[in-house]
Amino acid sequence: MNTLKNYTDEQIIKMIENHEIEVGDFLDSGICPTCFDKRHKGVLYGDASTRMIYEDETMECQLVGNPRAEGHTIISTKKHFRDMMELDDETCQKVFVMAKKVMNALKDIYGAKSVYECTMCDGEMNHFHIQLIPRYDYEKRGSKNFVKERKEYKEDKEKLNKLRERLNQ
Ligand SMILES: [Zn+2]
Repeated sequence: MNTLKNYTDEQIIKMIENHEIEVGDFLDSGICPTCFDKRHKGVLYGDASTRMIYEDETMECQLVGNPRAEGHTIISTKKHFRDMMELDDETCQKVFVMAKKVMNALKDIYGAKSVYECTMCDGEMNHFHIQLIPRYDYEKRGSKNFVKERKEYKEDKEKLNKLRERLNQ
């Protein structure tokens, strides 16, 4: 595979559709797959609009497609930053204030006992994001909650709507 930088976005989309390339090819070519996916409405990772709980000019908050717990949420910036260290103060403030809001909402609406927050972006071609992982009553507290087994996302319309309503207030 030659570098994807020699191709137009349209050509790259064709290659995705024909299963000729994968995420690794983006990384090898120095192209951020997250930015590409955001620019082309989920062409790489699938349509996330049904899992989107909040969006503005700075960030997107969405429930994870393969969650480690019910309510597992990812907040990512619209603009490309490699990690938290690269964020400008204004973006950092906005994102973490929103994280606090989402965490409280998950506690109230999903009945989480607590919500864990982590950001561990690493590598040259990473797109900054925060993970919010609920811990429920029946689960032991501790760092193992960060690596709970992933499960299938099941939509709970009622909770989803409550979450959207609360975060858009
Ligand atoms: Zn990016």
